Parts: sequence; C-alpha cells; structure tokens
Amino acid sequence: MTVRAFIGLGGNQGDVPARFRSALEAIAMLPKTRIAAVSGLYSSPAWGGMLQDDYTNAVIEVDTALAPEALLDALLAIEQAHGRDRSAGPRWGPRPLDCDILLYADTVIDGGRLQVPHPRMAERAFVLLPLAEIAPDLCIPGLGALKPLLERISEQPIRRIAEGLPHVHQPC
Ligand code: ATP
Ligand code: CA
Ligand code: CA
Repeated sequence: MTVRAFIGLGGNQGDVPARFRSALEAIAMLPKTRIAAVSGLYSSPAWGGMLQDDYTNAVIEVDTALAPEALLDALLAIEQAHGRDRSAGPRWGPRPLDCDILLYADTVIDGGRLQVPHPRMAERAFVLLPLAEIAPDLCIPGLGALKPLLERISEQPIRRIAEGLPHVHQPC
C-alpha cells in the first residue's frame, strides 16, 4: 500500500534548480515511489540569522510504500550524493541540497531521528506556500487546515521564481 508524503527541497549553493532536477530523478528512482506533484520554485532570505545567500525551495508530493525511516535514509543519501556534508559548517548553514519529510500521510512520528509533521514547517513561508500550491486543501496533523496557517506567514519575504520542474522520467 502506498501513502502520500510531502518532501521539502532547499538549497543555496551552486545551481540549485539543476540540483533539484537531479534530486527528483533520484527520488523517482527510489523503490516503490513515484512523484505525484512538484511545486514552483521559491526564493527567500536564509532562515536562522546567519549571513548567507538566499535559498531556493520547492515541495513535492510522492506516493510511496517506503516506511518513513527508509524514506528519510534515502533522502539523506540523495543529499549526500549531491554534495551535502553535514559534518561541515553550522546548523542552518549554507548547503547544496536539503530534503525534509514534511508529511507522511496522517502519521505523527516523534522519534530521535525523525519527527513528522516536520516540527518547524508551520513557521516557514518557503514550506507552506509551495505546499499550498500542490495541496491547497491539506489538513496537517496537530496543526489543522493549511489556509489559516498561510495567514500567519504572509509577512515573510518570498518570491515565486519559476514554474515546477519539467517532467521527470519515472520508471513504471
Ligand atoms: P530543519 O530541520 O530546521 O529544517 P535542517 O534541515 O537544516 O533543519 P538537518 O541538518 O538537515 O536540519 O537535519 C538534521 C536531522 O534532522 C537529520 O539528520 C534527521 O535525522 C533529522 N530529522 C528529524 N525530522 C526530520 C524530517 N521530518 N525530515 C528530515 N530530517 C529530519
Ligand atoms: Ca530543512
Ligand atoms: Ca534537513
């Protein structure tokens, strides 16, 4: 059985749209997983108070039969294959690729390695706006409907800079 999950993509080093495209190809190749929707790309200043380049972000929807921890491991491996070195630099420092599990069906997970829904997603316009683009009627466990959450982040500076990424080849 597959479930619907949402993944947030981010990055602020190098050619981020090209890296997103490559990451999507890798996600589409994961076992028992297909990409169902891809948001546009958004640009916003860095989060966390550190001086660094603006971030590019997007959200994708996947149908997957991978367990949440297996999906996390796969995403961490894809980040690493795209140049992410978590041992270098501070938390919330510059990175070529970040992949977060935002939602995994209606599941709530509060483990040491994995928390779902992503604990900071409701504070972030760069998550909520692309999410609303592909799933406007979503209800988030513990947080409720997406629409009222959007009002709370409406003051954050953010721009939509491109349409969703072109079609990603997906094996049958
Ligand atoms: P933030 O979590 O605030 O977006 P970040 O993405 O920069 O910050 P990372 O350094 O990429 O944080 O991740 C640190 C750890 O967070 C990961 O190794 C992973 O085990 C854990 N983690 C917990 N919940 C999640 C989740 N929903 N998606 C991705 N990683 C998660
Ligand atoms: Ca993140
Ligand atoms: Ca992350």
